[in-house]
Amino acid sequence: MKYAAAITDLIGDTPLLRLNRVTEGISATVLAKVEYLNPGGSSKDRIAIRIIDAAERDGLLKPGGTIVEPTSGNTGVGLALVAQQRGYKCVFVLPDKVGEDKRNVLTAYGAEIVVTPTAVAPDDPESYYSVSDRLAREIPGAFKPNQYANPNGPRSHYETTGPEIWRDTDGRVTHFVTGVGTGGTITGTGRYLREISADREGGRVQIVGVDPVGSVYSGGTGRPYLVEGVGEDFWPGAYDPSVTDRIVAVSDQDSFDMTVRLAREEGLLVGGSCGMAAVGALEVARELGPDDVVVVLLPDGGRGYLGKIFNDRWMRAHGFAAPAGTPTVRDLLG
Ligand code: PMP
Repeated sequence: MKYAAAITDLIGDTPLLRLNRVTEGISATVLAKVEYLNPGGSSKDRIAIRIIDAAERDGLLKPGGTIVEPTSGNTGVGLALVAQQRGYKCVFVLPDKVGEDKRNVLTAYGAEIVVTPTAVAPDDPESYYSVSDRLAREIPGAFKPNQYANPNGPRSHYETTGPEIWRDTDGRVTHFVTGVGTGGTITGTGRYLREISADREGGRVQIVGVDPVGSVYSGGTGRPYLVEGVGEDFWPGAYDPSVTDRIVAVSDQDSFDMTVRLAREEGLLVGGSCGMAAVGALEVARELGPDDVVVVLLPDGGRGYLGKIFNDRWMRAHGFAAPAGTPTVRDLLG
C-alpha cells in the first residue's frame, strides 16, 4: 500500500510546471514551483514543521503548549496543521487587510485569531507584532515561533526547497526568482542554489527577489500596498541581503493582473504574491536566451483571494482596473 502516515509527511516535494502562455516572446524556460500543492496550501508548511521540531528539541514548546504568532495566514495554516497533530493550541495575530476567507481557514483548523490594524507603525502597541509579543508573554506555556527571525525558517528552504529545485532541473537552473516577505524563502533557497552551483561552468545561479513597490527591500519605507504576504516595513532577521543578486519592485496593479492571467492562461489559481513573483520572473526572463532556466516560486493558492483579486467589484473599489472581461453568454451567441 502507498500512503502517508501523517498529513505532515506530505509537506514539500512540490512539482515544477513550465509556464507556456504568459511567457509569449520569451525564449528562456520559465518553471513555476507550485507550492499550493503542500497540504496546508502554501510554502509555509515547510517552515512550520521545522520550527516546531526545533522548538520541541530545544524545550521551548512543551506538551499542552500554545503557539502564538503574527501571520498573514499561510504560516498560521502550516503551524495549525503541525500543532493539531501534536496536541498544541494556536493563537494567530493578523493585520486587518487579510481577507475574511483566509481568517476562516485558520479558525477551520481550530486556531484562535486576533485582528489588528494594518496602518500603524510596527512599534505601535496595536501593531500585530506588539500584540503577538504581549500575548506570548501573558499566555502560560506560550511559544512564539517568530518567523521573521527564526533561523529554522530559512533553514527549511535550504534543506528542502533548494535541493528540490536543483534535483528537478538536473542542475540546469540559471535564475531563481521569489517574492520576499520574511525573506526566509530567498535566503534559504538562494543560499543553497548559490553554494551548489558556485563552481559550475557557465556561472552560478542568480538569485532575484521581488517585492511590492513601497517595501523596504526595493528602497521604500513600507508605504501600504495591498498584495499580501510580501514586502516589509523593517528588515527581518530571516533575510540575508547578501544572498540576493537583484531586487525587482512590482506594483499592486501589475501583480494582480498577472495573478488573474495565471488562472486564466496557465490554469494556476494562485495568490497575489505569486502574480507579483511571476511579473519579476518574466522581467528577468525577457533578457535571457534559450539555454536559461528560470525557476519562480509561487507560494500559495488563489482560494483565499476570491473576494479580492478575482472580484471585479473589490478591484474597482480599491482603484484597480479590473482585468479584461471574459466573453458573456450574449457575446458567445453572436
Ligand atoms: N507570499 C505569501 C502569500 C506569503 O504568505 C509569504 C510569507 N510571508 C511570502 C510570499 C514570502 O515568503 P518569505 O516570508 O519566505 O519571504
